[in-house]
Amino acid sequence: MKHLFICTLFLSITASLLGQDLEYAKDIISKLSSPDFKGRGYVEEGNQIAAKYIKDQFTQIGLKPFKKDYYQSFKIDVNVFPDKVLLSFDKEELVAGKDFIIDASSPSLKGEFSTYTVSKQDLMIDANVRKAIEQTAGKFLIIDERKFKSDDKESVKKLNELINFLKYSPQVPSAGTIVLTSEKLTWDISSEQGGKVSFTVCKDIDIKTISKIKVEVNASLIKSKTQNIVGFIEGTTQPDSFLVAVAHYDHLGKMGKEVYFPGANDNASGVAMLLTLAKYFKAYPPKYSVAFIALTAEEIGIVGAKEFVENPLFDLKKTKFLVNFDLAGTGDDGIKVVNGSIYKKQFDLLTDLNSKNSYLKSVQIRGAACNSDHCMFYQKGVPCFYIYTLGGIQAYHDIYDKYETLPLTKFVDYAKLMIDFYKSF
Ligand SMILES: [Zn+2]
Repeated sequence: MKHLFICTLFLSITASLLGQDLEYAKDIISKLSSPDFKGRGYVEEGNQIAAKYIKDQFTQIGLKPFKKDYYQSFKIDVNVFPDKVLLSFDKEELVAGKDFIIDASSPSLKGEFSTYTVSKQDLMIDANVRKAIEQTAGKFLIIDERKFKSDDKESVKKLNELINFLKYSPQVPSAGTIVLTSEKLTWDISSEQGGKVSFTVCKDIDIKTISKIKVEVNASLIKSKTQNIVGFIEGTTQPDSFLVAVAHYDHLGKMGKEVYFPGANDNASGVAMLLTLAKYFKAYPPKYSVAFIALTAEEIGIVGAKEFVENPLFDLKKTKFLVNFDLAGTGDDGIKVVNGSIYKKQFDLLTDLNSKNSYLKSVQIRGAACNSDHCMFYQKGVPCFYIYTLGGIQAYHDIYDKYETLPLTKFVDYAKLMIDFYKSF
């Protein structure tokens, strides 16, 4: 009877702690992906506002800074769209973010243009390509790929290279390009500005009826201040060795004055995981120190992680293991572990912990892939995983990656698994 009582009491304490953790994570994600944070990019101080917010969380949790504060500051080049991004087909104004995106490296442009349209299929014939180049001088070249189908990977690759040539080459006399697609729009961010404007449009329209398009784009290539945010918890017996958690907090920012990219899953969710782990290990410090790094400028080419490994704040050789959390907000189909097949012993440990406790549906293995922040650490010989959640929503690098639709159903189980994993070292 006594035992039962203790057991029940223990369970209810754990349950309420975890309830709090989920509330905390939800609060972090909803704030970071709200309009106030401007998509955590480089217009209207979005990246700075997010950094300050995370710094305040580090302070509240009680993490130690390596230097006088948590910031590791540096500068980056970035092409931004702080003002107008408008596109109209005849009289109809298209909706930015929903109907179209602008290529990340586009320069400014304003004017009314006539158009020359080719289908992607047409471009498989050389004579059509030559004609398109001749006919498109001063006009917008419209490439309609909505009906295009091919299983021949090699020719699709060649065709896409050709399309890039048509879009960006100064030898093509067009004013700009529009690619009409039936696929989901996926935005990006660039550290360069090219010579030509290009849009991707996803809309059900009869292009033959369009005679004129109107464009107004304000782009500017700027040098922006940014920073990694780094803190740690001192280990109880071997504080010189480190377990590490990293997550990038930057996202794509804004595309024009009205449209922002929330980046709830990518990667407010990873930051929430980082902070959840920081809170836990502050209360229960392990024998090794634990470093928490909120990285910046991942979206622009893993720049923040590169800055950190080139100027590390602790000896990277003393890293026992590092996990990169990028896309932590779904998990209904489990998780995927990049570098799982490289660090097989640690991967087996993770799967064992998962199956013993039935946390997640699956822990899936993947080889090396240079697709997020861990890559820079891996290239320096730091043993690491990059883990992302599977299932749930498909929103990615678009205006639909919102807090409101992020499942977070497995967030607590995922956090418990990672706590168990770090504690196994
Ligand atoms: Zn990401």
